[in-house]
Amino acid sequence: AEFLAPRLRRVRPSPTAAISDQVRAFIASGSDVINLGEGELDFDTPAHIKQAGIDAIVQGDTKYTAVAGTAALKQAIIAKFTRENGISYRPDQVIAGSGAKQLIFNALLATVSAGDQVIIPAPYWVSYPDMVALAEGEPKIVPCLESHGWKLQPEDLAAAITAQTRWVILNSPNNPTGAVYCAKELKSLAAVLLEHPQVLVMADDIYEQICFTSAEFATLAQVEPRLKDRILTVNGVSKGYSMTGWRLGYAGGPAWLISAMQILQSQSTSNPSSVSQAATVAALEQGNGFIREWLEILTRRRDIVMACVNAIDGFSAEVPPGAFYVFANCQSLLGKTTPSGEILDTDEDFAAYLLQSAHVATLQGSAFGAPGYLRIAYAIDDNRLQEACARITRACAELR
Ligand code: PLP
Repeated sequence: AEFLAPRLRRVRPSPTAAISDQVRAFIASGSDVINLGEGELDFDTPAHIKQAGIDAIVQGDTKYTAVAGTAALKQAIIAKFTRENGISYRPDQVIAGSGAKQLIFNALLATVSAGDQVIIPAPYWVSYPDMVALAEGEPKIVPCLESHGWKLQPEDLAAAITAQTRWVILNSPNNPTGAVYCAKELKSLAAVLLEHPQVLVMADDIYEQICFTSAEFATLAQVEPRLKDRILTVNGVSKGYSMTGWRLGYAGGPAWLISAMQILQSQSTSNPSSVSQAATVAALEQGNGFIREWLEILTRRRDIVMACVNAIDGFSAEVPPGAFYVFANCQSLLGKTTPSGEILDTDEDFAAYLLQSAHVATLQGSAFGAPGYLRIAYAIDDNRLQEACARITRACAELR
């Protein structure tokens, strides 16, 4: 431990990775664990995208590329932003990286220094606060309420901004709540942001395609073009194209920021995989005609979980309009006693109880900055999901 740099003390291991490790250990010991902890669709990457990757290998697209991505990929990204979001970027305003995660990390590392604050609305994706801490910044968590649909309110944003604020991170559809900001809501946040020229905005749109609502997906740079020079719009193919393992994300923003992110990338990982870049060109250019079918399947699964959660006494959730998580309130179940006599004091205890006694993995809300909740990821096979719900129902019925 004496060899570790002090910066490592500022971060925790990702709780989502920790639950996956626990699940693997259970499975290795012969237990039939159902994993509702993972932020990943179970759909296969569509065949035409896989084929584009195979073709790239066969054709010898297997060498270094430009650090920020090939010209073909940049064109596909620019066309996507224009076509689907109404935002126009030049080639020096877009970058591809090894997952959206790397781009978010590099953007923060390039701009945040000691004393800088980053506003993170809670519930939040687990990695934001730790990335900010690694960059020596100060995560400023702003709680959002279930009664507000888990969305940041303009007055709370205004109250959180100080002279030290460097970034605000917006994530819609949201992990873990599934909340989706409509254009009008973004507009009212934009009105606050227009008054604070020292603040950059990260729009994490990674779940863009997983949007059930008739209320359309919107993103800040489109809704308020006057802010465009201060917004980093982050996206990728992990969620919408079921390509988590390909590790390909992309972002659009002001050229100075993209260039800084590119410098960090050039001195660390260099270009994202050439094969993944070729596959992503196919993904973005051939569109996601399959998404309607995916959303139908996900809606069915979401309804399975919603029916389960709302039938259990002391457990409740609102229907999430996006992403593939149900964020369930379990506050009334806390304080109860398990059949073996343990008291479930926290949401973490509750998640541990479900894992140990029902063999269902979920994630406690406190990992996302919202204690008293449970995140249930439902992107798994219907039958397994039904079985998981039956197990959760049984485990809850045994609490006293
Ligand atoms: N942002 C959010 C909100 C996420 O949930 C995730 C993945 O779980 C990411 C970013 C990272 O995605 P990628 O696989 O592109 O790195």
